Amino acid sequence: MIECLLKIDHFIPDDYKKTIYDIDFKQLVDEGIKTLLIDLDNTMIPYDEDMPDDKIKGLMDTLKALGFEIVVVSNNKGPRVKRFSDALKLPFVNSARKPFKKGLKKAASLSGEYHPSEVCLIGDQFMTDVWGGKRLGFKVIVVDAIKRRIEKWYTRLNRRMEKRILARLKRIRRTIYEKLKLDEKR
Ligand SMILES: [Mg+2]
Repeated sequence: MIECLLKIDHFIPDDYKKTIYDIDFKQLVDEGIKTLLIDLDNTMIPYDEDMPDDKIKGLMDTLKALGFEIVVVSNNKGPRVKRFSDALKLPFVNSARKPFKKGLKKAASLSGEYHPSEVCLIGDQFMTDVWGGKRLGFKVIVVDAIKRRIEKWYTRLNRRMEKRILARLKRIRRTIYEKLKLDEKR
């Protein structure tokens, strides 16, 4: 089983919330987080929408007012990521190839010099967002996918792996698994 070869600590998020709106961003400010790298698909909008709604616009305004640098970081292709990010006037990295480090590093450096401990990545997938972010020393908050039903084949493959990783976490890191309430992860 390939998941047994992977370092389990790289799959432990710092926090788990149902949605991006449940995150306590003021607390992140207090913790010294300056840059937010935010996944696009199923974290901010589902796959079957392509523009930010008023709720996400409102949240981004709040986050900017709190002083965060925000970068959209997506494995999806250019046109979709650009259209969405432009509407929010946010910088972005498309085709980021998470969990590989290169795209995430590029995203973090878009706002200049950074220290990994000042970066928080928010996303819905363990195999791309959590794994990539933790390997770079970022804080990682994982959220539920907005809509699972219409995920693409490669995401469904990642979800199969995610399920196994979560089962392994439950087995060998039970305390943290229960503390984060990862049984509820969807
Ligand atoms: Mg996603």
